[in-house]
Amino acid sequence: MIKFYILTLFPETLKPYTEESILGRAQKKKLIKVDFINFRKYAKDKHRTVDEKAYGGGPGMVLKVEPIYKAVEAIERRLRLKPRIILFSTRGKKFDQKIARRLSKYRNIILICGRYEGVDERVAEYIADEEISIGDYVLSGGELPAMVLVEAISRHIPGVLGRQESLEEIKGSYPVYTRPEMFRPGKKKKNWNVPKVLLSGNHIKISKWRGKF
Ligand code: SAH
Repeated sequence: MIKFYILTLFPETLKPYTEESILGRAQKKKLIKVDFINFRKYAKDKHRTVDEKAYGGGPGMVLKVEPIYKAVEAIERRLRLKPRIILFSTRGKKFDQKIARRLSKYRNIILICGRYEGVDERVAEYIADEEISIGDYVLSGGELPAMVLVEAISRHIPGVLGRQESLEEIKGSYPVYTRPEMFRPGKKKKNWNVPKVLLSGNHIKISKWRGKF
């Protein structure tokens, strides 16, 4: 089982996603477990401050190191194995299927979701093992990246997918069709047909066709 610990200021937006479909089933089968930790809980001042202005100036707020440190410490205290700690950052390594496969070998993964202008750099320097970006665009937080990682990593755990063949590598992916053979989008429009080869029942030809993509 892989346990994911997601450090986020907005756990409620994510929870339902992890409780449905493949991830929900994987949790019921105890193949994965997704925990949400709102690190605001670890901010000790009266206002539970998690962000402040950046040193050196500039717009936007920066997430403070201390609440994140305390949250990670609390998780680590309960674990026997050292968790893999990932910080989401636009400057991180670009996430791909290879990284997903590598991370699926860890038993405990902490995902730190940034927000606002970003996270105090000391989290990257002293707490995280690696920084990951899910692509060259800027999102408002690490929450969607966390869902992307949880899903892509979980698919590598035997039993999470109904049929392991669904775990195709990107290179082995090909277009798929289902009924009807011929879809009529409307009068005066051409029909949308399924490629004939897929209806042929000739498995050699079908494999060849799929191999072209
Ligand atoms: N000012 C920062 C952007 C901060 S976005 C910059 O220009 O780099 C706020 C947070 O969202 C980031 O700290 C990071 O945790 C998350 N985030 C935004 N885009 C992301 C992406 N493409 N991949 C991973 N995390 C991302």
